[in-house]
Amino acid sequence: MQQRELFGDRLYTGFDGSNFFVDKEEITYQGITLDDFDKEICHCQKCQLGKTRANFVFGVGDPNASLMLVGEAPGEQEDMKGEPFVGPAGKLLDKILTAIDKKRDKGVYIANVIKCRPPNNRDPLPSEVEKCEPYLIRQIKFVKPKLIVALGRVAGKTLLKQDIPLKHMRSKTFDYRGTPLRVTYHPAALLRNPGLKAAAWEDFKFIREFVSD
Ligand code: SF4
Repeated sequence: MQQRELFGDRLYTGFDGSNFFVDKEEITYQGITLDDFDKEICHCQKCQLGKTRANFVFGVGDPNASLMLVGEAPGEQEDMKGEPFVGPAGKLLDKILTAIDKKRDKGVYIANVIKCRPPNNRDPLPSEVEKCEPYLIRQIKFVKPKLIVALGRVAGKTLLKQDIPLKHMRSKTFDYRGTPLRVTYHPAALLRNPGLKAAAWEDFKFIREFVSD
């Protein structure tokens, strides 16, 4: 019933494959928690967004999640609160998660590619992605999800390093550094255009199947 209410009837190896980075990552990963990692990087100033953010937005959720959702970058409300996917789009995302028997803190981890808000919600610059994406890669190593889902075209193209239409990204399972990756609509797009909800529900049914034990 809730599903019906919601949806209606109807690789870059961005760091030149840098062995040095990978080695360093594996060593520093050992023995520290996601919280430790958050504390380690929360004052980051590696790019210009560090100067304009209100809050660093690390990520939230279950460190043992089977499903990892990834947005492009914090928006205004996320920046204010320091948490990804809050506000009306976040509420819709929570409803979608409930519809696939998940919760934000149970079975799901949510993060962004970029941890600080780009001014006026512009798309992240390639130079910002290059500096910040390694943090996401580390988070994935902690969580080890069965599936990563990029929310929205910008998140999809940023992770895939391919600028292709969302409708083409939605229909395939990609590989993101060894983890399967799908792309679906950003919940804000579903709020703007409710006609997309039926297609989004098809995506989330696939996601539910994919991550089920
Ligand atoms: S966006 Fe990422 S790289 Fe840039 S300052 Fe924030 S945390 Fe650091």
